[in-house]
Amino acid sequence: MGWREAEAPRRPRSTRYLWQVANALSYPQPSTVAATSVMRSNRKTDTKPEVFLRSELHRRGLRFRKHSAPAIEGRRIAVDIVFPRFRLAVFVDGCFWHSCPDHGTMPTANAWYWVPKLRRNVERDHEVTLRLTSAGWRVLRVWEHTPAREAADMVEVALICPRPR
Ligand SMILES: [Zn+2]
Repeated sequence: MGWREAEAPRRPRSTRYLWQVANALSYPQPSTVAATSVMRSNRKTDTKPEVFLRSELHRRGLRFRKHSAPAIEGRRIAVDIVFPRFRLAVFVDGCFWHSCPDHGTMPTANAWYWVPKLRRNVERDHEVTLRLTSAGWRVLRVWEHTPAREAADMVEVALICPRPR
């Protein structure tokens, strides 16, 4: 035992999460990303919200891999939380670094530096999502401001969402 991925997670508390997850979940897409795109990510690992989410998932008996990097077209993509058998990749995106619509701010000092940098981060997020979905993965991005329990609910719902064929 120990690996409980195969079991159906408990039912989510409300259908609100189904909507949230349906909106947040990126499904595989047929298109591919240009091979020239830069995939290096500057995301910091083991941020607090990420740690909280991991322990909440663990507490619920869900097993996953952290910082796992599936190889896609020969290049590894770092993912915060991975459910390999479900081909589900979960990212915990920092509100500042990934320009959260609620808390993302664009610094006015040194805007010449920050504006393109933060924009590149967002572009890179899209690229990573597209790269993963093109390879048949589903991608769930949760904001760091999302409480761990709520984020864990979203992950659970994502696990029971039917996989597209
Ligand atoms: Zn936020």
